[in-house]
Amino acid sequence: MRRLLIAGNWKMNLNLAKSVTLAEGLKEAAKNVTDIDIAVCPPAVYVQPVGIAIAGSNIGLGAQDVYFEKEGAFTGEISTAMLLDIGCKYVILGHSERRHILHESSELINQKVVAALNAGLTPILCVGELLSEREAGVTDAVIRRQFDGSLSNVSAEQMKKVVIAYEPVWAIGTGKVATPEQAEEVHDGIRSLITERYGKEVADVVRIQYGGSVKAENAKDILLKPNVDGALVGGASLKIDAFMGIINGVK
Ligand code: PEP
Repeated sequence: MRRLLIAGNWKMNLNLAKSVTLAEGLKEAAKNVTDIDIAVCPPAVYVQPVGIAIAGSNIGLGAQDVYFEKEGAFTGEISTAMLLDIGCKYVILGHSERRHILHESSELINQKVVAALNAGLTPILCVGELLSEREAGVTDAVIRRQFDGSLSNVSAEQMKKVVIAYEPVWAIGTGKVATPEQAEEVHDGIRSLITERYGKEVADVVRIQYGGSVKAENAKDILLKPNVDGALVGGASLKIDAFMGIINGVK
């Protein structure tokens, strides 16, 4: 049985005081949630203070990116060891904003995924099609390309630890959420792809989150679909009530 993972991607929002207040509020509000995994991914500079704020809670700490090299002259980058050092468990990789705004290739994302897995971090690997790609009927091909490109050299044992986030780009931050049926169709396709590449035993345990304008009002119907194992939440993760509304709606 796969446990739901509801993760908040705070993106480049909030400040130190607001990050800590949100984290403390979530710690209190989520203290009785035992059957769902919860994570927050603050901006890099606030990961440590948020980690201190949620210490001892049932909320996992995540980062929004990591570099694949171990250490050295990589100005501006952060290593897997640094994330582990401050208590991180998860790292979002290949988010569409990094693929499309920062022009990250699947090859680079793959190096990051492998580095994260080798270090013991859980990658939340994002895949998803643009609106033009959905309209052109190539969603499946785009997901397959991103999946294969981002996961090469990942063993079956390692794959069991990967979380995939299906995030249709047209639904991210737009208020346009995929229908539960649209989400389930792609999630089912991703699970079949995992079966093709790694076998059914692996496919059965890999969690596939949906992301794209998830809110309390639309989360339950999506999260009840059999191949949807959680949500990656942007905007609605910035307010305690909105984030907890998603969690409590499916509890
Ligand atoms: C995201 O940041 O991954 C995301 C899905 O954002 P939003 O929920 O705001 O659409």
